Amino acid sequence: MILRPSDVEEAVSLLGEGARARAGNTGAASALAAGADVVDLTGVAGLRGVRPGPEGSVQVGAATTVAELAQAPGLARSHPALVRTAAALATPEVRESATVGGNLLQRNRCAYLRDPAFSCLQDGGRGCPARSGDHPRGVVVDSGGCVEPHPSSLAVALLAQEATVEVASPGGRRSVDAGELYASGEGAGDHVLGPDEVVVSVHLPGPAAGERVGHLRAAARSRAEWPLVEAVVRLGVSGGVVGHARVAVGAVARVPLRLPQVEQALVGARPGQALDERAERALEGVRSWCAPLPQTGYKVALLGATVRGALEEALADPGR
Ligand SMILES: Cc1cc2nc3c(=O)[nH]c(=O)nc-3n(C[C@H](O)[C@H](O)[C@H](O)COP(=O)(O)OP(=O)(O)OC[C@H]3O[C@@H](n4cnc5c(N)ncnc54)[C@H](O)[C@@H]3O)c2cc1C
Ligand code: SF4
Repeated sequence: MILRPSDVEEAVSLLGEGARARAGNTGAASALAAGADVVDLTGVAGLRGVRPGPEGSVQVGAATTVAELAQAPGLARSHPALVRTAAALATPEVRESATVGGNLLQRNRCAYLRDPAFSCLQDGGRGCPARSGDHPRGVVVDSGGCVEPHPSSLAVALLAQEATVEVASPGGRRSVDAGELYASGEGAGDHVLGPDEVVVSVHLPGPAAGERVGHLRAAARSRAEWPLVEAVVRLGVSGGVVGHARVAVGAVARVPLRLPQVEQALVGARPGQALDERAERALEGVRSWCAPLPQTGYKVALLGATVRGALEEALADPGR
């Protein structure tokens, strides 16, 4: 049965009784096939829309579609890194239905997880058949356990945007940093939320002074595909010098990652110029920090090249 709660608290209570959440339904969630009641979040009051807040901040409801996010008036000017990431993911058709909350909490893409002949750490079993089997899209920064990267592109952009996520639980609401939605290591699932928790909204602080951005995704094909590596860069430039830098990457580890060593090396750089020696050394550091699996060695060079490309794009960005 499909249940249509009118507010977030009702949705949380229905999930607590064993129903499963659904938003745009573009993921592979098969709650109906599994016989569970489905809580449709798309009609829940207050869960949809992009609302401006104080000091340039913005709140995005979790049931806002990716297409609405990519086209929200003014957002391309205030939060271009997020808009560019949203506009580049999946296909126009998927973006019309896919929601922000569903994107953040989508399941990983591992073929073993979708094959009923296998059981693994992600479905209550033991071990990871991909680790000793096929893992060509797997992590290049191995933290143990599951080796499939988290597939959310928006999570990478939200990390770079220093966003927080509002979560509703049976005990009330709380705010977590975007990166804290995910965990890595032996027992970690695709995200840390419980089955009776709902992502309510995402809060984006205002832009950095003199914000410039770069976004690059390396993919096996240009459309309808998750990236092999994705990089989002935000620079705040005042007086012709980078004073603030945020660099986030996806599809390289179980969780989206910030690259603080690259961020630190960028502070003091002059946009319009090529990467300086310090930034080049930091990129080299990123490459040597990788610990690839047998089939992901190619991602070491790809990670370096993708981050480099996004940095160059940000340094060349004239700003808005
Ligand atoms: C061809 C193709 C290419 C794609 N490429 C990309 C890509 O490059 N990058 C990328 O990031 N994604 C990509 N996707 C995935 C797509 O973006 C996701 O399927 C989509 O964002 C999921 O959103 P949804 O609203 O449809 O979620 P649903 O499928 O409805 O739900 C997904 C999961 O999230 C849970 N959920 C949904 N909303 C909430 C909420 N508010 N609170 C709590 N739980 C919730 C559901 O219970 C379910 O477990 C691609 C998909 C396709 C088909
Ligand atoms: S990579 Fe993750 S999802 Fe795939 S088999 Fe291993 S534990 Fe399961």
